[in-house]
Amino acid sequence: MPWSLPHRRGNAAADVATSTALGENCLLTALRADDLARLQPNLARVSLRQGEVIHRAGEPIEQVYFLVSGMVSIVAIMRTGEAIETAIIGREGVVGGAVGSNGARSAGQAVVQIAGAGWRIQSAKFSELYRASDPFRTLVNNFQGVVLLQAQQSAACHALHSVEARLCRWLLQSQDITASDIIPLTQEFLSHMLGVRRTSVSLSAHALQKAGLIRYSRGEIKIVNRAGLMETACECYEVVREYIDQAVPPLRRRTKAESSPDDAV
Ligand SMILES: [Zn+2]
Repeated sequence: MPWSLPHRRGNAAADVATSTALGENCLLTALRADDLARLQPNLARVSLRQGEVIHRAGEPIEQVYFLVSGMVSIVAIMRTGEAIETAIIGREGVVGGAVGSNGARSAGQAVVQIAGAGWRIQSAKFSELYRASDPFRTLVNNFQGVVLLQAQQSAACHALHSVEARLCRWLLQSQDITASDIIPLTQEFLSHMLGVRRTSVSLSAHALQKAGLIRYSRGEIKIVNRAGLMETACECYEVVREYIDQAVPPLRRRTKAESSPDDAV
């Protein structure tokens, strides 16, 4: 796979739990052994279907999710029903982590955009450890910073950057999260997430395909030239990537053998 992520520094190697039973969620695998032992009995493995809404805006967060594959979007929904994506979360973070610090209600709607799997925990149990463990609280807070940064960057990106550059950014972020060159999403879906007309997405996708950066077919986009996408993407991709690299434990690159099949529940 033609990509690499910068190595992140860390001095907590001795504390890193190496259990692979929890899959590849970066926060779970970075937990101290005692925190992991406390959390693990409360974690339930779940599969996540595309389109599944796991948190609704304004409603209580009953459960928190640690993804090991797939991708969840946090979207802001207008009264007209229109929605726009403000952040995406995958195996490098936690969905609903805000419940630890601010109680209970979801600020946005969390919807599964790419099917996958993860670990689910009741909010009360999550909050117990959040209050009790400084390292766990720090991990979660750092990731909540990532969600906030994404929302902030998305606001500027939407106002200032071209659809083509934003599409490149989105594809790169999705590739990082899923560790796959194939993004199983339609252009119609992308138009909703990017907040633009479908024809704008079609024109941009066509230009990117013509330039040899992607190939698209019904229901999926294949990334064939990551370096080219990085050149075309707006600066927001690198801003968010660098922030994530500083804030959360490193993503481990998957081998082909580890992809997909192990994610089945
Ligand atoms: Zn941008």
